[in-house]
Amino acid sequence: MIPPLSKAGAALAALRARLEGEVFAPGDAGYDEARAVSNALIDRRPAVIAQCAGEVDVIRAVRFARDLDLKIAVRGGGHSVAGMAVNDNGVVVDLRRMHRVAVHPESASVRVEGGAVMSHLDRATEPHGLATTGGRVSTTGVAGFVLGGGTGWLDRSFGLAVDNLLGVELVTADGTPLLATAEENPELFWALHGGGGNFGVATSLTLRLHQLPEFSIALLMFLPDRGPEAVRTYRDLLASGAPELGGAVLYLTGPRAPFVPGHLVGRLLCGVLVTYVGGEEGLRKRAQPLLALPHECEVVSAMPYADVQCMLDSPPGLRNHWSVEYVRALPDELVDAFCARAPSMPVPSACQQMLFPQGGAIASGPAEYPVAFRDAPWAVHPFGVWADPADDERALRWVTDVRADARPWSTGAVYLNLIGDEGRDRVVAGLGTEHLNRLARVKRQYDPDNVFRYNHNILPA
Ligand SMILES: Cc1cc2nc3c(=O)[nH]c(=O)nc-3n(C[C@H](O)[C@H](O)[C@H](O)COP(=O)(O)OP(=O)(O)OC[C@H]3O[C@@H](n4cnc5c(N)ncnc54)[C@H](O)[C@@H]3O)c2cc1C
Repeated sequence: MIPPLSKAGAALAALRARLEGEVFAPGDAGYDEARAVSNALIDRRPAVIAQCAGEVDVIRAVRFARDLDLKIAVRGGGHSVAGMAVNDNGVVVDLRRMHRVAVHPESASVRVEGGAVMSHLDRATEPHGLATTGGRVSTTGVAGFVLGGGTGWLDRSFGLAVDNLLGVELVTADGTPLLATAEENPELFWALHGGGGNFGVATSLTLRLHQLPEFSIALLMFLPDRGPEAVRTYRDLLASGAPELGGAVLYLTGPRAPFVPGHLVGRLLCGVLVTYVGGEEGLRKRAQPLLALPHECEVVSAMPYADVQCMLDSPPGLRNHWSVEYVRALPDELVDAFCARAPSMPVPSACQQMLFPQGGAIASGPAEYPVAFRDAPWAVHPFGVWADPADDERALRWVTDVRADARPWSTGAVYLNLIGDEGRDRVVAGLGTEHLNRLARVKRQYDPDNVFRYNHNILPA
C-alpha cells in the first residue's frame, strides 16, 4: 500500500486526478474486482491498478510506475493462465476500458484497441461479412492473443493472427508512443509477431480482414468407447488437406444444451467439432465419413462465426491449469493414448482434453516470425478449468499426464500463449534459439531495463 503522505502518495493522488480512466488502490471500492483475473488460482495484490481510457492514460501510468520504480504488469483480456496481467505491489496498466474497434472494409483491415476482447472484434467485423483469425472463445484479449501468435477456428484458412498483423501502436518503457509497421520500426514490428508483451504496451493493433460470407459447424458427441474411431476419422478427414476445414476433438463434460439428451449431461463425452469456411451443404459433404459413424447427438448448421466463438466460453473465476504439446504426427498409437487418458479428466467440470489440427495456411505462412510451433500438424492441449478445490490435484496430474503421453511425438516447439510459467527452456522452445537472440537485441533497444517482464520474458541482449 502506498502511504498517502509520502512522495509516492502525492504521485498517486496526481495520477488519480489526471487519468481519464480510473485508479484503484488497496482499500478502494472495486479494488478486488479490478485485480481479479480469469484464473481463480491467481490472487495478487497490486499497489495500483490504472484502468486507462486511452493512449495518454497509458503514457501517464507507465511514467508514474517508472518514476516510483514500481514494477509494471500490462492487462489486456486477463486470460494468461499464469496471471501475467497482475503483479504484487506493482502497477497494473489495465486496458480493459480501451476496446473500440474500427472496421475499414475498403482496405480489408480493422483497428482494435489494446484492451478489446474477441467478441468486440468479431461482432464489429461480422456485419461486413469479414473476419480474421481469432481465438476459440469470445473473452480472450485480442492484444495478448495476437502478440503471442494467435490460433483459432480460422487459422487453417487465414493463417495465424500474427500473419495478419499490419501495425501496432505502442507505448514504450520510457512512456514514448510509437508506431510499428513493415515500414516504420520494422525490427520492432517483426518482434511483435510472437514476442508478446515484451516491448511495450500495445494501445492498438491493425489486422488484415478476410471475406467470410458463410461459416458452418458440425459438432458430434460420441460415447467415450467410440472415441478412438471418431478421432481417427477426424484425423483422416483433416489429412485430406482442405484448409477450409478445421475444428478440434474435445473430451468434455456433456453440456446442458438443447441438442444433448438429458442422460448425457454431466457425463464424459468425446466431442468432435468440424468447422468449415463455407455453407452447411458443403460441410455435410466433406464431413460425411464422420457423420456416418454411430454418435449420440449432433448439431450441423451454418452459424455466424461470432456465435461459434461463444460456444466454448466458460464463466470467469474458475481454477485454470493448462499446457500443450505440439506433435509431428498423429499415429494410431498416440490417438489411443490420448483417448485412454480422457477418463482421468475431472468430470463434471469445464475441463477440455483437446486435440486440434494445424497445417493449411499456418504451415504455409511466413517462416520468418518467432513462432516456432508453425510446422507441427497437430497439437495436444489439456485445458484444465474446474471449480472445486478438491479437484486441484487430479486436474494438475491429468494435464501433466496428457502432455507426457504425447511427448514421444513432440516436435519440441511450443506456442507460449497456451502455457503458463514452464521455465526458460519452454520460452526458448516457443521462440526458437536464433529468433530469441534477435528478439533480445530488439528488447535491448526498446526495453533495456526489462520494465515489461510479466510475460514469457525475453532478457535484453
Ligand atoms: C478460455 C481461454 C481460451 C483460449 N483460447 C485460445 C485460443 O483458441 N487460441 C489461442 O491462441 N490462445 C488461446 N488462449 C490463450 C490466450 O491467447 C493467452 O492467454 C493470451 O495471452 C491472452 O491474452 P489476454 O490479453 O487475454 O491476457 P492477459 O493475461 O491480459 O495478457 C497476457 C499477456 O499479454 C500481455 N498483454 C496483454 N495485452 C497487452 C497489450 N495491450 N500490450 C502489451 N502486452 C499485452 C500481458 O502483459 C501478458 O504478458 C485462451 C485462453 C483462455 C483463458
